[in-house]
Amino acid sequence: MKLAFISDIHANLEALESVLADIDSKEIDDIYCLGDVVGYGANPNECVEIVSKRCKSVLLGNHDAVATGLLTTQHFNVHARIAIEWTAGELTSENKKFLAAQPLAKTVDDFTMVHATPYQPGMWYYITSLEEAYFNFQSFDTRICLVGHTHIPMIIALDEEEIYVHQDKSISFDERENLRLLINIGSVGQPRDRHPESSYGILDTGEKKFSLYRVPYDIAKTQSKMKKIKMPDFLVNRLAEGR
Ligand code: ZN
Repeated sequence: MKLAFISDIHANLEALESVLADIDSKEIDDIYCLGDVVGYGANPNECVEIVSKRCKSVLLGNHDAVATGLLTTQHFNVHARIAIEWTAGELTSENKKFLAAQPLAKTVDDFTMVHATPYQPGMWYYITSLEEAYFNFQSFDTRICLVGHTHIPMIIALDEEEIYVHQDKSISFDERENLRLLINIGSVGQPRDRHPESSYGILDTGEKKFSLYRVPYDIAKTQSKMKKIKMPDFLVNRLAEGR
């Protein structure tokens, strides 16, 4: 099976369509979404409707939780708050209902999916160090855990007691039986690793291989839509810089 994983779309329709076109060119069996379908971008309803149709399962992200009233804006900065208040007013009740019904985490076969961290996923912690990653390896039982949330794609490997960031975009784990992986698949709609192209991942369960991919999209079109709905300049400008 070839499985694609997308996350942190953040209502960026141009990015979502470009990534799905790339996925469609690769003979993928199923697509999974790790949450934050909305927030920041101009097309929350369109993105929810596409994701709900195209993905085998969708997880709840913190922006989805705030937009649907499950969580307050307490931990949001001023830009995120402005964006999510607009989003909450824009989303149809049907789309809100869909987002609010999604789980925080899901395990399929030998992989776990969660938006933030496998340790207490509803606390919306971030994994920003190998210490935090090591700690989180104790909180899932499967060989692989896929996450989003930081918008920074990264493959972290745990081989027995040795933990490290895998420097390549692809990793084969067939011959290394004890190898476990904690993989951040990056963001479709708002990458923050100084690389503005959308990020997503593919797991080949037969070949036992995981790969990260980058896809360009029409950033200027997304930005002009965001300007039209008066999103803060900071949110508009960051897309071109990937930060
Ligand atoms: Zn996000």
